Amino acid sequence: MLSNLKPQAADKILMLIEEFKADTRQGKIDLGVGVYKDPQGVTPVMRAVKAAEQRIWESQTSKAYTGLAGEPEYRSAMAEMVLGDVPADRLASVATVGGTGAIRQALELARMANPGLTVHVADPTWPNHLSIMKFMGLPFVEYRYFDAASRGVDFDGMKQDIARAGKGDIVLLHGCCHNPTGANLTQEQWQEVIAILAKSGAVPLIDLAYQGFGDGLEADAVATRLVAGSLPEVLIAASCSKNFGIYRERTGILMALAENGAARDLSQGAMAFLNRQTYSFPPDHGARIVSTILTDAALRADWATELEEVRGTMLGLRDQLAAELRELSGSDRFDFIQRHRGMFSRLGATPEQVAKLRSDAAIYLVGDSRLNIAGLNRDTVPVLARAIIDAGI
Ligand code: PMP
Repeated sequence: MLSNLKPQAADKILMLIEEFKADTRQGKIDLGVGVYKDPQGVTPVMRAVKAAEQRIWESQTSKAYTGLAGEPEYRSAMAEMVLGDVPADRLASVATVGGTGAIRQALELARMANPGLTVHVADPTWPNHLSIMKFMGLPFVEYRYFDAASRGVDFDGMKQDIARAGKGDIVLLHGCCHNPTGANLTQEQWQEVIAILAKSGAVPLIDLAYQGFGDGLEADAVATRLVAGSLPEVLIAASCSKNFGIYRERTGILMALAENGAARDLSQGAMAFLNRQTYSFPPDHGARIVSTILTDAALRADWATELEEVRGTMLGLRDQLAAELRELSGSDRFDFIQRHRGMFSRLGATPEQVAKLRSDAAIYLVGDSRLNIAGLNRDTVPVLARAIIDAGI
């Protein structure tokens, strides 16, 4: 039986990690994988996470199962962090296995509610969105998103394309810090997107994986809150992997805002059912770390401070890289790096130029020229800037 299996295409980003490991050159630079690294190249455990783990270790008396939807404290703390004012009468939520689990459950939920749906997804988007939908056999179409010339958003193209989404279709949107481009909508543009969805009855699914990495914890939630407050039905898949630095704990949440209390109850039941069918109870440790931090004023303040340091480090690297490139190129054509937000920027280089960076300078970017800003430090920024110019980008 097992020999009937077909080989699966390897994940390109995970393949890049292996290639990087195998490279024996001194001074090689990994700008591939989407993990925050501090200037020393370490992905640290945040102070508040350590403190919360200690508290949990000291106080936890049982590892018995939690609820199918996860712990209520976690779900309410996350709802508050993401939504601010929580419309409790319309909100269903379940803890999930990371943000990926939340996206998967969101798509399953949408298909249960509307088996004929099409998903509308940004071109480009996080490759796993496409991969999950292909695996599920969910029909999807791409909407224009990235403007190759400005490295900003092709908003006219996007508007035209998402207007094709019909009632009960899903439009998958990145709440902030678009992955892989780093290019984001303005608040006015979000309002226009909302107006288009309000007209068609298409349902937004907001993927919020980088809250706190762009313009700040509150600012990064503004778009999601705007959508949540404007449309009758909204799905939100949020991840705690990046902003709490708890990648391997697999901590996420799916929230569904329904039109009314009855639809909310149906959604809650269906979401708990989906958890039951997939993995039964969601992981608890990461969720408990998050709720411990968010419900304790001192821990929360310390976490928010450290998150701001992380964000500030990335913004500083963006400023430095843009300045170096302005100097070397004698132009402002790389200033988009300063305008982009989050961990990533799409350089807009050809696959050949990306390969040249790897072969000539031992600098590893994803093939679509996405670079992880957090893979840099003050010393490697000039090296990258020089290599970008030498590769003819
Ligand atoms: N969405 C986007 C856009 C992402 O970049 C990621 C992580 N790479 C996720 C969702 C999922 O994160 P996780 O499952 O690790 O929480």
